[in-house]
Amino acid sequence: MTPLAAALARRIAAGGPIGIDTYMAECLMHPDHGYYATRDPFGRGGDFITAPEISQMFGEMLGLCLAQVWLDQGQPAPFVLAECGPGRGTLMADVLRAIRAVPGMAEAAEVHLVETSATLRERQRATLAPRAVTWHESVATLPRAPLFLLANEFFDALPIRQFIRQGPAWAERQVGLKEGRLSFGLAPPAPLEALQHRHGDTRDGDVVETCPTAAPIMTEIAARIAAQGGVALIVDYGHWRSLGDTFQAVKDHQPCDPLAAPGEADLTAHVDFEPLAQAARAAGAQASAMTAQGVLLERLGITARAEALARRLDGTALQAHIAAHRRLTHPEEMGQVFQSLAVYPATAPLPPGFDAD
Ligand code: SAH
Repeated sequence: MTPLAAALARRIAAGGPIGIDTYMAECLMHPDHGYYATRDPFGRGGDFITAPEISQMFGEMLGLCLAQVWLDQGQPAPFVLAECGPGRGTLMADVLRAIRAVPGMAEAAEVHLVETSATLRERQRATLAPRAVTWHESVATLPRAPLFLLANEFFDALPIRQFIRQGPAWAERQVGLKEGRLSFGLAPPAPLEALQHRHGDTRDGDVVETCPTAAPIMTEIAARIAAQGGVALIVDYGHWRSLGDTFQAVKDHQPCDPLAAPGEADLTAHVDFEPLAQAARAAGAQASAMTAQGVLLERLGITARAEALARRLDGTALQAHIAAHRRLTHPEEMGQVFQSLAVYPATAPLPPGFDAD
């Protein structure tokens, strides 16, 4: 048993089963034993690899998108260049390099990072040095200024709840104890106002997931963008609206049982884009249509960039570069599983690369 498994078992023995959201929050962010709190999980030696770690081209394309939006909105200066869940800081570093192509933009950017892990904050500081960076525990403390915000594989790490349809009611899936070990169980079914809208597209036994913190975070972001200008670019794996169990654990690049090693495996769930777009619109901003990552990157010019970079490479470096381009864009790799959403002011044009709503 991991130290966190023992602590969770004691807590459940004393207070009863916990929601998957509570379990996920403890596993990822517990200050001593949490997955992100204790390690840098990215890259080939880690548990998983993300788009910015696959190739610099990912951040460069998002940087070009931000640059066009900055020009379209009259070059606000200064502005807040923010990222939620920046991991190693690689995406922000690539964006800062790409926006240097636009005179004045990098100089006008004040970098703000929303990151709860102290270990990863250190890593981000090292990646972005000598740039001054301000960290935040949550989006609530981001300054009220034009906001240009990125979030790649951030929303998938936010705790989810799962509910199983039972007639007109829903039974929450919980983490309890069976013979001293963590095990899934069900709370008694109850009607649930928040899932009324799912009665039409679900049947008995279907699993529906909610992410209680996602919409409030989007509301904070979109309210700033509606009032002060800017844009948010959200990229993650998911769907418009989910159906089924997407709660998953990954350790050493392999899927594993989410209850097997609390604090030692990455836990994620697919992101629902519908509640994000709805929260953005309710806060007075516009939301694009959900746009496949591969389509977005192609429209932003990744193939031309890939060809330019390829001219400087040969041998295995060239092969790796070609594979990275394919991995980011191809529909059978990350191109379709990963989706994106842009949130922008009611009066501003659609950010480049995105489908209109
Ligand atoms: N965007 C990076 C890392 C994705 S992993 C990349 O693409 O490589 C998720 C990141 O979100 C990590 O940096 C993790 O520490 C951070 N994170 C997870 N939950 C968070 C929360 N509730 N608030 C702030 N940061 C969080």
